[in-house]
Amino acid sequence: MQHILDAILAEGTSAEDFANLELPESYRAVTVHKDEVDMFDGVPSKEKDPRKSLHLDEVALPELGPGEVIVGVMASSINYNTVWTSIFEPVSTFGFLERYGRISPLTKRHDLPYHIVGSDLSGVVLRTGPGVTKWKAGDRVVAHCLSVELESADGHNDTMLDPEQRIWGFETNFGGLAEVAMVKANQLMPKPEHLTWEEAASPGLVNCTAYRQLVSTNGGNMKQGDNVLIWGASGGLGGFATQYALNGGATPICVVSNEEKAQIVRNMGAELVINRSEMDFKFWNEDGTEQNPKEWQRLGKAIRELTGGEDIDIVFEHPGRETFGASVYVTRKGGTITTCASTSGYMHEYDNRYLWMNLKRIISSHFANYRESWEANRLIAKGKIHPTLSKTYRLEETGQAALDVHHNKHQGKVGVLALAPTEGLGVLNTELREQHIDKINLFRGI
Ligand code: NAP
Repeated sequence: MQHILDAILAEGTSAEDFANLELPESYRAVTVHKDEVDMFDGVPSKEKDPRKSLHLDEVALPELGPGEVIVGVMASSINYNTVWTSIFEPVSTFGFLERYGRISPLTKRHDLPYHIVGSDLSGVVLRTGPGVTKWKAGDRVVAHCLSVELESADGHNDTMLDPEQRIWGFETNFGGLAEVAMVKANQLMPKPEHLTWEEAASPGLVNCTAYRQLVSTNGGNMKQGDNVLIWGASGGLGGFATQYALNGGATPICVVSNEEKAQIVRNMGAELVINRSEMDFKFWNEDGTEQNPKEWQRLGKAIRELTGGEDIDIVFEHPGRETFGASVYVTRKGGTITTCASTSGYMHEYDNRYLWMNLKRIISSHFANYRESWEANRLIAKGKIHPTLSKTYRLEETGQAALDVHHNKHQGKVGVLALAPTEGLGVLNTELREQHIDKINLFRGI
């Protein structure tokens, strides 16, 4: 791999030079193993340790198919889906790979006894498959994680509706936590030039998801002046939702679990913050069987105190079971609850009277289509939305990085260096970087 890294680090390597680089037969990649999917049976969720299930293996380079691209990965990042894969919850991701593998001989390549994880990358195009014309070897890129086949009519208004829609590196193989990754050409986007490799790799999945969920007409369709309740406002998704609310003239009401996180969102420009640990909300009784509407009211009262008596126009939901009843309750008449996840449990309960009598809407959202992803990445590239990278690990330490996220010990996003030998490389536009350096560094070292 050294010759590939040398070519990336050298100034003036041409597209032709890159196209002529010999590709290695194998590369290092972070994997889970199919014969280990039962390793945590009987272990409580929080005690399942990604350091035990995530391996750094030497794996074979996949054969490149039509419309595909091999990327030399400089950096990647941890998403919650890496945590789900590594603890084999709610299901083992090998089922996804088997199902994908049944479609065609090409997709069969994904059905392996190991799963290379990771749904973000920044890096350089090394090879393009037949039919790829928009990208060429040497292009500096980031990848979004939407993998689609688009053979059916269903996905042609909104590619997220393709029946064969998958999340790359979660429901497909050859993910980004590796020295080399294989993606479809229509996952690629230009790398923001003012960011380092690890900064550029970190927004991808969560930035695009937050953009669709909150801003896009497919999601919350947020407008100026909206009150937006953001759970986990300094977390992976929330760190971007908070920025979109501020950027779009809305008012974020940021929920976080400690003072350090409260300070982060204040530093981002948010003024209305709720510390959920301090408030000690008990939306559910001790054994988790019944909810307590009085606690929903207590949240609603805290919101009104902050907003001067107003309720929430849009709730940015993802904790799920724990918070969903409260989220539905505190939304104003005609308001919207947008949901993309269920971290605390997917069997939600809410009082439907509050929903239908007040004409509230629940909108489901999942990742983003290519256009939405492109718009979200463009905002990063223009310095209007910023990465939220707090810490970067090496590929060898991916298990620890995933454990941090699993135990909610992280801030914003956690990065992982792949081929990049150190942090801080890859910046081409120093002028734009200087303009925004405080915002880029806001989560650093926290
Ligand atoms: P994250 O970085 O861990 O941030 C989530 C934050 O939510 C936490 O930091 C925590 O913040 C808050 N939180 C967690 N449990 C909570 C609870 N029970 N009650 C209230 N707040 C809680 O994770 P993320 O990257 O934002 O992802 C969040 C969820 O969305 C995950 O389940 C992930 O799989 C999912 N997701 C879905 C999509 C999609 O396309 N559908 C995309 C990205 C992520 P505080 O401790 O500060 O409150």
